[in-house]
Amino acid sequence: MTLTTAATLSRVLADLSQLNPQNKVYYTSVTKDTGVSSEYNVTGNGIQLLTSQDPFDNVVAHVGDGVLTTVTTEQLTALKALPHLYSLKGSSTVVNIDLNLQDYSIVPTFKDLGYPTFISNDLDTVVAHGTLAYQLAISNKEPVFHFINFAAVDPATVYNQELDLPRFQFEELAAFELENAEHFKTYPGASASPSTLVINLSPYGPQFAPVAAKLNALLVDIAIYRPWTLAQFLEALPGSIRKIAIVEGSSKAVSTTGAGFDPLLLDFFDNFNALAERKIDQIILSNVGRLSDAEAALTQIVNNVQGAAPEQSLYLGEDICSSSTAEYSEAIKNVINLEAAYIKVLNQLFDGNLNVLNEYGNECINTKSPEYGFGAFLHAQSDREALVAQVKKSLDPALFSTVPGANELVKLLSQWVSSTEAQLNEAQLNEANDLAQEIYTILQGNQDCEAVLELLKLAPSVEQLLFRSHWLIGSDAWSYDLGNSGVHHVITSKKNINMLIIDSEPYSEVAKRESKVHKKNVGLYAMNFHDVYVASVAVYSSYTQLLTAFIEASSFNGPSVILAYLPYHSENDTALEVLKETKNAVESGYWPLYRYDPRKEDDATGEIAFTLDSAIIKKELQTFLDRENLLTLLTNQYAELSKNLELSVSDAITRKQENRAKAAYTELLEGLSGPPLHIYYASDGGNATAVATKLCKRALSVGLKATVLSMDDILLEDLAGEENVIFVTSTAGQGEFPQDGKTFWEELKGSNDIDLSALNFAVFGLGDSQYWPRKEDAHYFNKPAKDLFGRLELSAAKPLIPLGLGDDQDADGFQTAYSEWEPKLWESLGVSAEGMIEEKPWTNEDIKATSDFLRGGLAEGLVDESTLNISADDTQLAKFHGLYMQDDRDIRETRKAQGLEPLYAFMARVRLPGGIATPDQWLTLDGLSDETGNGTMKITTRATFQLHGIFKKDMKHTMRTINSQLLDSLAAAGDVNRNLMVSALPGNAKVHKQISQMGYNISEALLPNTTAYYDIWLKGPDARDKDPNWEKLFQNRQGGPTTKKTLLADNSLVDVEPLYGPVYLPRKFKVNITVPPYNDVDVWSSDIGMIAIVDPATDIVLGYNMYAGGGMGSTHNNKKTYARRGSFLGFIEPNDCIQVIQAVVAIQRDNGCRSDRKHARLKYTIDDMSIDVFNAKVEEAVGKKFGPERPFEITSNCDYFGWIKDESGMNHFTSFVENGRLLDTPDKPQRTGFKKVAEYMKETGSGDFRLTGNQHVLICNIADEHLDNVKAIMKKYCIDNTDLSGIRKVSSSCVGLPTCGLAFSESERYMPVLLTQLEDVLEEYGLRHDAVVARMTGCPNGCSRPYLAEIAFIGKAPNTYNIMLGGGYYGERLNKLYKASVKDEDIVDIVRPLFKRWALERNEDEHFGDFCVRVGIIKPTLEGRLIHEDVSEDAY
Ligand code: SF4
Repeated sequence: MTLTTAATLSRVLADLSQLNPQNKVYYTSVTKDTGVSSEYNVTGNGIQLLTSQDPFDNVVAHVGDGVLTTVTTEQLTALKALPHLYSLKGSSTVVNIDLNLQDYSIVPTFKDLGYPTFISNDLDTVVAHGTLAYQLAISNKEPVFHFINFAAVDPATVYNQELDLPRFQFEELAAFELENAEHFKTYPGASASPSTLVINLSPYGPQFAPVAAKLNALLVDIAIYRPWTLAQFLEALPGSIRKIAIVEGSSKAVSTTGAGFDPLLLDFFDNFNALAERKIDQIILSNVGRLSDAEAALTQIVNNVQGAAPEQSLYLGEDICSSSTAEYSEAIKNVINLEAAYIKVLNQLFDGNLNVLNEYGNECINTKSPEYGFGAFLHAQSDREALVAQVKKSLDPALFSTVPGANELVKLLSQWVSSTEAQLNEAQLNEANDLAQEIYTILQGNQDCEAVLELLKLAPSVEQLLFRSHWLIGSDAWSYDLGNSGVHHVITSKKNINMLIIDSEPYSEVAKRESKVHKKNVGLYAMNFHDVYVASVAVYSSYTQLLTAFIEASSFNGPSVILAYLPYHSENDTALEVLKETKNAVESGYWPLYRYDPRKEDDATGEIAFTLDSAIIKKELQTFLDRENLLTLLTNQYAELSKNLELSVSDAITRKQENRAKAAYTELLEGLSGPPLHIYYASDGGNATAVATKLCKRALSVGLKATVLSMDDILLEDLAGEENVIFVTSTAGQGEFPQDGKTFWEELKGSNDIDLSALNFAVFGLGDSQYWPRKEDAHYFNKPAKDLFGRLELSAAKPLIPLGLGDDQDADGFQTAYSEWEPKLWESLGVSAEGMIEEKPWTNEDIKATSDFLRGGLAEGLVDESTLNISADDTQLAKFHGLYMQDDRDIRETRKAQGLEPLYAFMARVRLPGGIATPDQWLTLDGLSDETGNGTMKITTRATFQLHGIFKKDMKHTMRTINSQLLDSLAAAGDVNRNLMVSALPGNAKVHKQISQMGYNISEALLPNTTAYYDIWLKGPDARDKDPNWEKLFQNRQGGPTTKKTLLADNSLVDVEPLYGPVYLPRKFKVNITVPPYNDVDVWSSDIGMIAIVDPATDIVLGYNMYAGGGMGSTHNNKKTYARRGSFLGFIEPNDCIQVIQAVVAIQRDNGCRSDRKHARLKYTIDDMSIDVFNAKVEEAVGKKFGPERPFEITSNCDYFGWIKDESGMNHFTSFVENGRLLDTPDKPQRTGFKKVAEYMKETGSGDFRLTGNQHVLICNIADEHLDNVKAIMKKYCIDNTDLSGIRKVSSSCVGLPTCGLAFSESERYMPVLLTQLEDVLEEYGLRHDAVVARMTGCPNGCSRPYLAEIAFIGKAPNTYNIMLGGGYYGERLNKLYKASVKDEDIVDIVRPLFKRWALERNEDEHFGDFCVRVGIIKPTLEGRLIHEDVSEDAY
């Protein structure tokens, strides 16, 4: 159809609503003024809904499948319809909302509904947005909001263009995305690099535009508010923006209604990291009323945001709406700014109808208490009841004979009485108050009538006749004593009164709360009465939900309780800090968002009173729901609930009690006698646990009543009653207690009055006297054990024996001191140690040997829903399946305080020999990272993919999805050959093909033969399979995990591991292949390194210089451990490679150390037997002598960035991915970028990916005809950047915190920051483009191969690193310790003078590592064994 030309705004809307003839069209009574109603009436299909009759109730009842509905209304009606708007979900409804109050804060108010939202301030935009709105509503079956400022459009303006609009038909429209629509309208005029951005949500965009240009600010109007993400928004911003001024149209000043808070700000604060990354340091929201001088206003706004101390709640212009602010009570004015957020919302909603009953902000305890407010309410209620009774008595026109229009007055009075008995929503409240005002005016004018005078006695002012929303506002202090406080009286009163309780205790403080008095759960208490409306809200989490709750509460004719969360530490907390605390609390389930509306309960329809608005709830709430028989309904509704319902805050104590009961039960069962002995441990790495467990077993074996528990299980009040107690603790960080001893230690330290005089105790500590080698740090050695011993003595406990201090530096480690300490312990207890069992420790070797070829209890553990974890043994076995059980260490403490176990989740590593991935594989893994992972992908230092954060319940589906792409994760970790790396070699396709094939063949030849992987993950169908053919696909795959057991001669089917045997290798095994001149795989860092020797004339690989015994891992201060560079084994022809490597594996299998995992790598085996003996053994096993080393030249161990064309004409681009973490940030939406490239490749059948061991990604094999398109995608998503400093290009880090369980310090998250600082220093000395290979790890295990870097930072403790220097630029020489235990803030000061010297004294093209060695800053490390030699004394 053609849009009517020369159409006015209302005509345009009427035409748009007719794009589909079956449309239902509604308008509310107030919109009559806009002219829309008369236009609708022309078309004959407009239905008017009365504002006073809850219009959206009617709308919701009529929306449905295949029905397109248009509603035109104004902002107050829309706001008050909020509870209904949830029900529009899934319906094709366009809601046109006239911004008649000129208050644009209503736009973000609806944001949590998630409906597409358009804003139009002129006629052209109305047409454009209106068309899009209908298309979206129909194609996506979703409601769409279209906010239109009618007043901003001149009524004389007409739309004159011809516009052919399709008649949108439901069946014709595919799902529609707003991707290409203009979300932000940018005004031209600002310079290329403006520092300030003005985001305009007001009608003043056109007036601001010339001023913004003058102020060099970039001005944008918000045109489409939803869908929208901050990332998307920031992506479009110039990088120069540092300040953001948001201008929001407002009807009145905000200074008295909640300074500092506005829902629009939440959109920006929601991802504060993104802002920080973009270096945006100021965001200020200013409100504008009616502006007479837009230029002056914008100038003031921009100057304000650029100022040193900007005003947070600037309001410019005149109030547009004047009726409400005068109504505020004194109490509201007194509230502090933070709470003002809630008060603002109340005022926004109830305007003049709000009545706050108590003086919340008043220091006077009486007037702010609920009793005071409730008392006042009851008093007013009794007056009101008397008035109602009197009015009822007066409903006779004869009584008003002297009053003109007596009949009309009686009619009004009877309507007033009805209103006192009804449930009034906000619109009805307004109408009822208009009625009250009308009655009062009549009464005032007729005081010669007796009946009137009787009424006026009880209603001396209009106030007594008015209808109010009555609110008591209080703090969480009201929650401590429900039974005796006014809270109970309100809840049980059945009166129409609302209570807002603001809880400001930050979640992070709850665990530290000193008071033993616990807050009661007012929400549960109130819900128990079944006739109370209850809601739990958080303004900084969901503004929409908060508004809904307020509206529902107010219209509920009975008591309502709204529990509102607003955590802050001090009144000076910024909105950002409050937001962070809120997020933490809501997302962890500490503060669930919900609404309980007794009106909704309907057995017939199955509708329930409880609505959960957040994802996670606590157990106590679940118990309530359970009892109410709602849980089934709820868990059906929210599948994710089931996993979160298991644990609650109170579980911490319950768990302790259960553990103790278990220990007591064991005692009983064993029927032991003798003195009771309680052994407690605190352990991070497991050594202290092992010592304590061993002690316990030995005690039990000679008849002592012994128990062993973690220190966290100690109930302090019980400790005084115990007789003999042994403590074993290791040492964490800088002399801190390990995680599971911290709480006990804090409690013990803080309990000054505890009397332990009846307690006999002993303490054994495990530490490392050299971990902090500086003299001044010596006190960190075994500090927890020493502190504990001292504190127990102070509390009058009696030491059984002196403190035992184990030291890793002793000949046998801590065992040296322990073997002296333990006999003394038994002696002190009067027990003979003779006959005590000497139990062999349970080692990884035992786990493997008893695992039935890597099965263990994995299959059973995966379906155990009582924990997110799997058993310790299975954790080890899972590694062979490519899985690491990890937990988010950032939130470990928080969860512990909640009594929750750590948030265990798997990291899954893919086996990707050669690092090549097809577009399909990429897209599948990218999809999985969202579906079951944490939304990011990691490219590892072994050139493969890792997905993080996968919960146990999703693991099988994840594995099957990975395997559906003919990938697997078998042997991506564990004591076997791991993912095989080959050089990326983008410039030579022919050679790359040969080495990739070699890599694949080796990987397959060394793959474990167990069927456990297939059995556990792939066998049979699975309900979540995306394709029923997966089962067959897994069965028939060529290569990959073995699917069938081996049939033996006796007809039995068994697993056999011809290469590895049943216990596999003593430790991990790695193979890397490179091609000169590149060493991008660090060929000398792995157990087997292969340098391809290529015939330059034919590009045929003639063979490989093979090296053996490289390895990176070591242990701090343990000189028996060291990084090692591979030693030459021989020149091996391609056909012999697999046989040679299998021989090496077999020799390592049979000769590697299996008693000490720290000495188990091939590098130690070779050094123990000497390289010559080892080489001879390999030659003997293969049955031939190997050739001498062939000449080659390596020039770099880095990646080649940028485009390169190979000899076959295909194009390849190496893209920089910082530390391999693929995620979307505002600056770099890299993950999306690669996804788009993969989609393009898939669509065109051109291209694939290659991953590098330096954690970057190659976009490969792009044919010329696709090059421009791929480049355009890469540019759009910032994955084409090669403009990087020399140091950044060649540097890398491992994962480190928070997921790696072994990390002592930050790595991946800190390295980029440090590099920026180092770049500044290098720039200073003119070295920006000089590459320095810098690497960082969170621990000495060496995952990013730091020991081959020119400079390395190896995590030692939180924020503390060892600095290594002198590695070779090509990865050919190991580095050496330069400075130990350096605090992160000191690193730059230490490195700066070194860079300076390098700049001034270097030889031409001399690399930094070589320079440091040449001038004697560091001695060279020529052999791994000697890495600890020649370390300068100044290093410590
Ligand atoms: S080097 Fe250490 S901290 Fe880094 S990923 Fe490896 S084990 Fe974890």
